Amino acid sequence: MDALSCLIDDSSQQDCFEGLKLENFQLTHLTYADDLLVFGKANIKNLELFSNLAGLHLNLHKSTLLISSLANISPSISQALHIHNCSTKISYLGIPISLGRSKISDFSPLIEKVTNLLSDWKAKLLSFAGNWISDGSWSLPPPLSHSIKDTIYAILIAHNCHYHITWDNNENAYFKDFYNEHFSDSDVDWFQLIWHNKYSIRYSSCTWIAINGGLKTVEALRYRNIFIEDTSCPLCLGFLENCSHLLFECDYSFQLITMLIPHFKNFYLRPNIAQALHFIDGLNINRETKNANLLILHAAIYFIWNERNTKKFKGNDVCVTTLYKKISRAIYLKLNK
Ligand SMILES: [Zn+2]
Repeated sequence: MDALSCLIDDSSQQDCFEGLKLENFQLTHLTYADDLLVFGKANIKNLELFSNLAGLHLNLHKSTLLISSLANISPSISQALHIHNCSTKISYLGIPISLGRSKISDFSPLIEKVTNLLSDWKAKLLSFAGNWISDGSWSLPPPLSHSIKDTIYAILIAHNCHYHITWDNNENAYFKDFYNEHFSDSDVDWFQLIWHNKYSIRYSSCTWIAINGGLKTVEALRYRNIFIEDTSCPLCLGFLENCSHLLFECDYSFQLITMLIPHFKNFYLRPNIAQALHFIDGLNINRETKNANLLILHAAIYFIWNERNTKKFKGNDVCVTTLYKKISRAIYLKLNK
């Protein structure tokens, strides 16, 4: 699809495909998965150009022409393409497309489909109890034995407008009550330092992936039996690339982090992610400043990983000062939202 995209946009040829033009902007095509939407000047020459460069041939049985009544070339295009199926509306991926304004009724099949999917989803995902209660009373499926049914029937659902089935005797239970019951005792002590108050999902997710060994560094890939020829850290070109080197042991990264959070100059040995998080948590500063420092650390990890990818795969790199300014700007925008 990328090659085809380049061919359509190739303006080096004498005759090139003419897209829709508006001042300095030209739109020739849009791609979505393996679908291609082509926009171009409606004339035979343009159609032939597209066919020649793409090598694509129309499936006449599946093709429909939508041509505005304002364009007086409809018959000639229809004849040239041998498509005689002309219409004023078609359905693309279930969405109605027409030359005029769409009516609500045009969307009825789509609404019906979504409604059916939702009812299926409800049936599958509602708890057994949710399915077994109908209009405030038990509605049990036939295969259950009498003894089980009798036991369940004996449980009052509601009495005097008070629910008898509650979550831990709490009639107004929320999802967080369920969550606290099961997940409040986290197995790790850095959980709240990643998902802190004011976290940014983009930055914190990257740290979470990194701390769980999910960044696909050279060393991580080796564990999966994927061997990369160039094993050096792209940022300093000097050491084997692994997560701890890339984020803290690398001079490039650590210089960046100390510029962003000068407290890190106190480290004699370079920390790992968990130690860095606990270090910020232990600083003698108020909670708001701690959260800001955590946000900066997560952003630094995110941008270091991005810089590594840019340098490794595109060959472009920026100096520490430029990256420092980029992160500072991103943090400023986040905090002043
Ligand atoms: Zn390095």
